Amino acid sequence: MKLPPILERVFKSKSGRLTDKLRLKQNRQLGLIPARYDSNNIQKSICGYCSTGCQLDIHTKSSRPGGLRHGTTHPVNLGMACPKGWEALEPLNAPDRGRVPLIRDVDHTFRQAEWPEALDYFCQRFKEIQNQHGNESVAFLGTGQITNEELALMGALAKFGMGWVHGDGNTRQCMASAVTAYKESFGFDAPPYTYADLELSDTLIFIGANPCIAHPILWHRVMRNPHRPKIIVIDPRATETTAAATTHLAIRPKSDLTLLYAIANILIQNDWIDHSYIDQHTELFDAFARFVKSYSIDRAVEATGLPASSVMELASKIHEGKAVSFWWTMGVNQSYQGTRTAQAIINLALMTGNIGRPGTGANSITGQCNAMGSRLFSNTTSLFCGRDFENPADREDIGNRLNIPADRIPNKKSLPYHEIMKGIEKGDIKGLWIVATNPGHSWIDQSRWFKSIRSKLEFLVVQDMYESTETAQEADLFLPAAGWGEKSGTFINSERRFGVIEKVQDPVGEARSDFDIFKDIADHWGCGELFEHWKTPEDVFQILKTLSMHTPCDFSGIKDYSMLQKNGGIQWPHIQNQQNGDLPEKERRLFEDGRFHHPNGRAHFVFEETTPNPESVCPNFPVWLLTGRGTSAQWHTQTRTAKSKMLRQMAPGSVYVELHPADAHELGIKTNDLVVIRSRRGSLEAHARVQASVQQGQIFIPMHYPEVNQLTHPSFDPYSHQPSYKACAVSLSKRT
Ligand code: SF4
Repeated sequence: MKLPPILERVFKSKSGRLTDKLRLKQNRQLGLIPARYDSNNIQKSICGYCSTGCQLDIHTKSSRPGGLRHGTTHPVNLGMACPKGWEALEPLNAPDRGRVPLIRDVDHTFRQAEWPEALDYFCQRFKEIQNQHGNESVAFLGTGQITNEELALMGALAKFGMGWVHGDGNTRQCMASAVTAYKESFGFDAPPYTYADLELSDTLIFIGANPCIAHPILWHRVMRNPHRPKIIVIDPRATETTAAATTHLAIRPKSDLTLLYAIANILIQNDWIDHSYIDQHTELFDAFARFVKSYSIDRAVEATGLPASSVMELASKIHEGKAVSFWWTMGVNQSYQGTRTAQAIINLALMTGNIGRPGTGANSITGQCNAMGSRLFSNTTSLFCGRDFENPADREDIGNRLNIPADRIPNKKSLPYHEIMKGIEKGDIKGLWIVATNPGHSWIDQSRWFKSIRSKLEFLVVQDMYESTETAQEADLFLPAAGWGEKSGTFINSERRFGVIEKVQDPVGEARSDFDIFKDIADHWGCGELFEHWKTPEDVFQILKTLSMHTPCDFSGIKDYSMLQKNGGIQWPHIQNQQNGDLPEKERRLFEDGRFHHPNGRAHFVFEETTPNPESVCPNFPVWLLTGRGTSAQWHTQTRTAKSKMLRQMAPGSVYVELHPADAHELGIKTNDLVVIRSRRGSLEAHARVQASVQQGQIFIPMHYPEVNQLTHPSFDPYSHQPSYKACAVSLSKRT
């Protein structure tokens, strides 16, 4: 495996070989691996990787973590965890952790700095840029990896304290299309399900999702389903999930929207719809029925490559199911028409009455451990809890609740992530603050990050656990942050469940929690008095409760962290003075009363003609490249998972490509041959895996390797602005 230079230096012995012994020795010197742990001293925490939100029981001794088990009684994971959960403590011990602030010197090397100097430098440089070029010349990029309390403080500090207008998060890359779809269809970003629905459905339909490896514990919940459910997977590629499904519909890339509209048409033509539900709880159905008339079975066959019988069979199974649930992830969201595709799924659930009942729903599973928290509290494109920056009443309301002048709240929305990037390229945005994300690896058409984005920035601050990421190595100022396990706060999982993360060890070196860094920046900037009541994460949790009151996500009935711990987490909404008081239900789904969040209480059918993929295959680039998650042992840019020996052993160490045997035969490629893959934007070399997991004319490369986004095409959904990572045109040849 190719390691970042800093990691290589630390992991390698003089002989140049990677040695775990050396690593263990270094960790012992740092006091990070206690020899024993006390099984009576257990702290319960929510896992800091994915949005499933599993509870981990961490055994500690002398304030240091030792062993780890998985919460056996927690309503989410029921005693299970995936490999990342088992290894959750490992990344804390990595030798490339940022331990002190670093300032880029005149000779372009990093020098160590004390915190006061680093914070002064942060404020001085950003203020200089703002004074010279205005408040819109700076921006921040956040993450779904930090706590609700940190997200809220970061957004409030930047926008109300420092006068910034623009800030977005890496959550734009994973579930912005689902957010926009829910807002337009339901009137609020409200994923309606509870995980128990996975066990209660008789028909589960997964679209662009591979939960076996992306959300293994949710797949475990499917395997517990006692109803012998039909499991249908719509995915161009044969995956671990399709192998376990009852039906795999291997469609052509990005033909999902046409298929979903055709299914809606078949359901309507056969009168397989729930008239009573449509009449009582929805609007715009008649227009939708007229719209989908042109989406015939023939049209679906032509777009998807499926036989007509498979299209018809899918519609029949939806009709026959008594409790049909639809689940989607990034195969839908990361598309140039992701919002409309998500809404086509929502439309199917609404027209068949498969929503608000056990085992049903139009259910987006999100990615990062606190992507759901960022949706409510990051204060990026929406003002707290789904409010609107452009609405004076909403600004007044937040100003009153926070006791800050409303005119400190920007009256316009932030630019979305890709517009911030474009603003940097155009020279409009000159200062950027990146917190816990790694666009140097993950941004689409990545070579632009280094060629035309980084070089245009006058000042780049990176705040992260590791000083070795591709992005941190480009920083002018690096601020070392505590990681999961070194701080406390709350996350929200995919089923809207708040859970507590616990501090089980002190941050390494001089690293500080993101919360403490934000507080310190506020004081150095001179706006600390605005946040005088935001003293601790739990103080901020209480503030967020008041901000949520009378909104659809109202969780003012959750007293405090101990109530969350006692109940295995609590799903929003949970409202004060409700009849069952301190005894929230273990599981709760939304819309059981058929009332949605639009003013008239009805859900909307939203639809639009399909459009062609912005990039097409051609004689020079004749192959479709699909990207996605590789194994359950890898997480995103591998910033953390690459630190675990066990996880490294479970995943291929270098980039590989899956290609179809017929294509391999034609090109004279065998498994393990080195092949060159080129797109209109860049190229990479990868080892071949010849297997029929992909269709002819398609290849698959996992997203976890830094080279992959040199190939991807920078197209974006027009409504959610989410990048379309999933299908771009490439060429393939054996390296000579
Ligand atoms: S499924 Fe997700 S939350 Fe659960 S242990 Fe694995 S990474 Fe952590």
